Amino acid sequence: MKLDKKLCLGIESTAHTFGVGIVDFDGNVYGVMNDIYIPIKGGLHPVLIKEQHLDNFMDTIKKALSEANCSIKDINLIAFSQSPGLGPSLKIGAIVARMLSQLLKIPIVGVNHCIAHVEIGRLMCNIEDPLTLYVSGGNTIVSAYESGRYQIFGETLDLPIGNMLDSFARDLGLSHPGGPKIEQLARESNNYISLPYVVKGMDLSFSGLYTAAKRLVESNQYEKTYDLNDVVNSLQETAFAMLTEVTERALAHTEKKEVLLTGGVAANKRLQEMIEYICNEHDARFEVVPLKFAGDNGVMIGWTGILRYKVEGGHDISETIIKPKERMDKITIPWRS
Ligand code: AMP
Ligand code: MG
Repeated sequence: MKLDKKLCLGIESTAHTFGVGIVDFDGNVYGVMNDIYIPIKGGLHPVLIKEQHLDNFMDTIKKALSEANCSIKDINLIAFSQSPGLGPSLKIGAIVARMLSQLLKIPIVGVNHCIAHVEIGRLMCNIEDPLTLYVSGGNTIVSAYESGRYQIFGETLDLPIGNMLDSFARDLGLSHPGGPKIEQLARESNNYISLPYVVKGMDLSFSGLYTAAKRLVESNQYEKTYDLNDVVNSLQETAFAMLTEVTERALAHTEKKEVLLTGGVAANKRLQEMIEYICNEHDARFEVVPLKFAGDNGVMIGWTGILRYKVEGGHDISETIIKPKERMDKITIPWRS
């Protein structure tokens, strides 16, 4: 396929995934390839993730190009995840992107990962102006576009929801990722045990909930008056009810007419059900980003890079320094104003 369309190669590398996406300037996707670090035991160690990205980036790029049936010379723009994330991972993506941009003499654009999750949702679900609940291993954010930026209406004060579920599952001896296993176990129970429900203003805290659920498993009542399925069900119900409350209040405040659920935890059917319920109550359209694009991927980075490039052009190489802690609400969104 020799395309007459302009193509962007997007690189995602904020954490466990080295993702490459090939997308044209109209939003058509040609190639999606992910290499994901999965720990054999323990959590996501930044140095081990970095090593895997270093070992596999070339192969991942080649596979994405091959799926798109094009060559690196057909690429017109490079986009990469510049923020936020784990420093060692971000650095690999940034180095690869700068190298490609300079070798091929094509423009480069740095992209905020959280904004990319929203933009790929707007593209894939064909919606204009959503309130977004972004729930993943590394992030828990309720955001919406207002006054030229993606404003944050609520966020976690400590653990991201996916990280909390994965950590709890790991403590129980379940393999990574724990979220889907917790969803399955929770389905086997209708028993709810009261656990700390912590919403402060519009923000959420999951660490007390995590500790309390662990105490239930360590208690002498465990496997006498309740079992593991009951604990996991209670943990999931409490955490998702907190997310739903904050999302609903943001929806009432912003009066948006669309709600987008995205990030890896968006796969959870119980969470989908709860968010859909509040959408019906508020006459808002509910959309879940297709799972292929809900988790971290290079297409979302490529597409968001294209949106910025079309209005502002590329970044100077001196502007491509990684920003591990950059918040999405610090960034202007010229393509929507
Ligand atoms: P991400 O960080 O966006 O790549 O998403 C990964 C996170 O999504 C991990 O924390 C997973 O445990 C979580 N996850 C994936 N599927 C599910 C599910 N069905 N229920 C809950 N969490 C899930
Ligand atoms: Mg993500």
